[in-house]
Formats: sequence, C-alpha cells, structure tokens
Amino acid sequence: MAWKTLDDMDLNGKRVLVRVDINVPMADGKVTDATRIERIVPTITDIRAKGGKPILLAHFGRPKGKHVPEMSLQPLVPTLEQAFGAPVTFVERPDGDSLAALPADAIVLVENTRFTPMEEANDPQMAGFLASLGDIYCNDAFSAAHRAHASTEGVAHHLPSCAGRLMQAELEALEGALGQPVRPVVAVVGGAKVSTKLELLGNLVAKVDHLVIGGGMANTFLAAQGIDVGKSLCEHHMTDTAVEILAKAKAAGCEIVLPADVVVAAEFAAGAANEVVANDACPADKMILDAGPTAVARIGEILDSAKTLIWNGPLGAFEIEPFDTATNAAAQKAATLSKAGQLISVAGGGDTVAALNQAGAAADFTYISTAGGAFLEWMEGKTLPGVAALEG
Ligand code: ADP
Ligand code: MG
Repeated sequence: MAWKTLDDMDLNGKRVLVRVDINVPMADGKVTDATRIERIVPTITDIRAKGGKPILLAHFGRPKGKHVPEMSLQPLVPTLEQAFGAPVTFVERPDGDSLAALPADAIVLVENTRFTPMEEANDPQMAGFLASLGDIYCNDAFSAAHRAHASTEGVAHHLPSCAGRLMQAELEALEGALGQPVRPVVAVVGGAKVSTKLELLGNLVAKVDHLVIGGGMANTFLAAQGIDVGKSLCEHHMTDTAVEILAKAKAAGCEIVLPADVVVAAEFAAGAANEVVANDACPADKMILDAGPTAVARIGEILDSAKTLIWNGPLGAFEIEPFDTATNAAAQKAATLSKAGQLISVAGGGDTVAALNQAGAAADFTYISTAGGAFLEWMEGKTLPGVAALEG
C-alpha cells in the first residue's frame, strides 16, 4: 500500500493531529449512539502508547462555515473521556503555544472544523494553520475522505502523514474486496434506483465475476429487456442505460444475475397480500417488492462458489415484512460462509448496514463499512482525496 500507518511513524514526544469522524447522533445534548467514537479508540490508544499527544480534529453537522453553538463538539467530551479512559481537553480556539503547554499525556479536542468556511473550501491558509499545531498528521476519518477539506486533505501536504487504525482497516478491507481480490468475486447491488448507482454498476461490471442485481433497480433491468413490470418502482427513462450496462458486462465477462422470480403485491405496505411469480409475470396492477425463492437459491449457489463478496443495497423493500425475506436469506448465507472462513465479505451503505443488522448477519461479515458516501465513491472507482493525500 502506498500510505503509511501508525506503525511507520515515530510518535514519541510528537503532537499528532488526528482527523476523526465523531459526527455521532445526539438528542438533548447527549450522545445516543457512540459507535463512531468507539471505533477511533484503537488509534488514540496507539498514539498515546507510542508517546504521542493526540489533537483531534473533527466536524459536526453542517454549520456551513458559521459558528453554530448547537453544533459545538464540546458536549461530546464526556463520551470521549469514557471511551478513551482519560481526560480530554476541549479547545475552542487552538494556538500552537497553548497546545504545546498541555501535559505530554493530554488528549486535545479542537472545536468543529466546519465553523469556518475555510475548512470546506480547503483554504491553504487553514491547512497551513492546522499543520502548525502538530508534528504529524494522522487521518482516521475514511468516511470524510471523499471530501477535499483543509482538515482531511490540505493539511496532509504539510506534515508527515499516515492512516489511523480505522482508516487502515477500511482501506485494507476495501482493497481486499476490489483492489486485489481473491476470485471469483461477486457483487450484490440492490436498492431503489439505477440512477443513484450508475457509476457503481459501471465500475463493478469491469471488476467482478458475477453481479447480482436486486431491489427496485432490478425492475429497470427487467423493463430494459422488454418485460412489463406493472406498477413496480422502475426508471423507464434509464432502460437504455441498463442495456449499456448489460453490454459492458458481457464484454468484460461479468455475469449479470437478475431475479428469475419475484414477490409481487398490490401495495407497498407491511403484510400486504403477496405471491411469487416469474420475473415476466408481474400483473399490471401489482408491484415487485422482493426477489423470489428461486432467485435466492441462485444467489446462494453463486455465494457458495465465490471467494469474495461486495454488497451494497437490499434485494427488496426490506423495511416492510415479509419483503425482507430475500435480503435476510442472502445476508445470512453470506454470514455463514464468512464465519466458516470461505468468503471474504465486505458491505456498506446506510440501508445496507441496517438490513444486515436486521438480518442478524452483520457481525459475521468480514467488514462492514459505515462510511456511506466515501464507501460508495470508492466502489465507483473514484480516487478519494483524503486517501490520495496520504499517498502523496
Ligand atoms: P443503501 O442506503 O444501502 O445504499 P439504497 O438507499 O440504494 O441502499 O436502497 C434502499 C432502498 O431501496 C430501501 O428503502 C428499499 O425499500 C428500497 N427498495 C428495495 N427494493 C425495492 C423494490 N422492489 N421496490 C421499491 N423499493 C425498493
Ligand atoms: Mg439509502
């Protein structure tokens, strides 16, 4: 890999600027889900064990370059202290001298980087100022790496830089799934629309051996083949694009797998009366809400012979029972194979993570990315500026 990790850096006595993502959900001034904070603990612990002084840089919410008191990072201090097992010093307006004066074992949290417009503008002055606060830059915020901001990209050009443990884990998992994967590789892509995942599909067909398409977007592919999908969610204006993707897949030797059978209902509602029909037999007054049992069995076969899986998007309307059936079954199959050491499985995406949790499958996946937009851009084959800056 072209980037350094904490193992490559001499941190003893150094001030280490650590870009983290602690944009956690809050209610009534309290953190309601500390997952993101828990995930940066190894990085902070390692820096301190190596004699470094962590200075945390992070954004919170979307203050749009203004000082918005409700978006201060200060209320996070107790949760951070609990997670790190050590005191955290909050600094509203940092300067080099006052940070240097803090004890060697201090942990510093700097106020929301987005309280100035210079952050999102990646203003060189701000990058230079941030760099003056530290000796080393460590980026542990993969989820913000698709943005070239002063604290995620600009500052890296001024200091010796490395990836934190979470960033490292994420990059290694993603590299293992799409960079240099063990073949055969299968991608499962579902969700509502082709239009939001066009670049993703285009990149994947060139890289994977099987591409399983499910969810609402499968309807667009069925329609592209002249199939009447009734009242199903379907982007009829995207059928030409679907045909192009099918052709690109064929040229690249990627097998596209559409559901052979589907579950149809008259309405998008929990417990709606439903039936399984062939994929070309959706009644005109019904909609496809899930993949059928034959489709699930086929996906299971593909997973059985695959070595690597990358997954984004549910196979059906997983929020409403029983249309979570195909997603649950495929997720549980992937989890079982992963647990048995037969499959490297990497998944990401907001609804995908929710669906895999709901299926009770997430814990057995090799890696679950919580990075959202950055994960998708990476799957699209894009260069993430925050990662590229570490390589430079
Ligand atoms: P992610 O957030 O993981 O990237 P998406 O947002 O692309 O996933 O897709 C999730 C959405 O797709 C869910 O709200 C789900 O209900 C919807 N969906 C999946 N299959 C269908 C379908 N057949 N008809 C309508 N909506 C569907
Ligand atoms: Mg979504």
